[in-house]
Amino acid sequence: MLEGKVALITGGARGIGKAIALEFASNGADIAIVYHGNDDAAAGTVSEIREKYGVNAIAYKADVSSYDSAKDTVKKVKDDLERIDILVNNAGIVKDGLIAMMTEEQFTSVIDTNLKGAFNMIRHTCPIMLRQKGGCIINIASVSGIMGNAGQANYAASKAGLIGLTKSVAKELAGKNIVCNAIAPGFIATDMTENLSNDNPLFQLIPLKRFGKPEEVAKAALFLASSEYITGEVLKVDGGIAM
Ligand code: NDP
Repeated sequence: MLEGKVALITGGARGIGKAIALEFASNGADIAIVYHGNDDAAAGTVSEIREKYGVNAIAYKADVSSYDSAKDTVKKVKDDLERIDILVNNAGIVKDGLIAMMTEEQFTSVIDTNLKGAFNMIRHTCPIMLRQKGGCIINIASVSGIMGNAGQANYAASKAGLIGLTKSVAKELAGKNIVCNAIAPGFIATDMTENLSNDNPLFQLIPLKRFGKPEEVAKAALFLASSEYITGEVLKVDGGIAM
């Protein structure tokens, strides 16, 4: 389904991003993953992709919150893999805290990674997509950005901003054959949510009564990556929690 395409996935070394990288690779795409610090996870994911699916896979260490780091990384990916057809802005962090005690650093670092990071990557990738006369951008938001969440003012603001960014980019680039959509996961079992157990009160609010799997978000990403007539959409993968 994605043969001949190159997908760049930020935060692709672990969790949801890794599942998306594997799903796209299993459908024939060459893969560039961007990670921040965990060299072992990145090397492991790249080896797994190459061995299982025989496609090209390369890991790039970078900080998406830095405009220049994002610029250098996009250039390296284009030099190495020759094109970029799909960009998945998945890299994200949490630094939860109550608003009355949240530090400026907690707020700024989450906005810089989750929201500005996506802007940085889109800013440097879209000229390549424009020259290629097409492309697909998928931003991994969150139901927190739709509903809000106590203790996550920084995170929810970053994800709500990401949804606004998605819709604006979708409108701006639709005439250039570039689609831009968001996925809003609910609670997905990854390193990010390892502190949440099944007896957490939040768990009872999920109509499907379980956390989601990274692979279930990856299926939604594949759907969007292979849909040419969907843009500006926010697809929830949340077990029904944000109904
Ligand atoms: P993980 O913490 O498991 O993985 C995050 C990935 O992002 C890692 O690969 C990490 O790199 C990378 N990363 C973090 N900061 C940067 C940075 N500044 N530059 C480059 N890469 C960076 O997260 P999840 O898989 O759980 O989450 C993925 C996305 O999904 C996030 O945007 C998150 O907000 C969103 N999401 C997750 C939910 C969940 O329940 N898990 C629910 C809703 C949304 P490294 O490996 O080097 O540390």
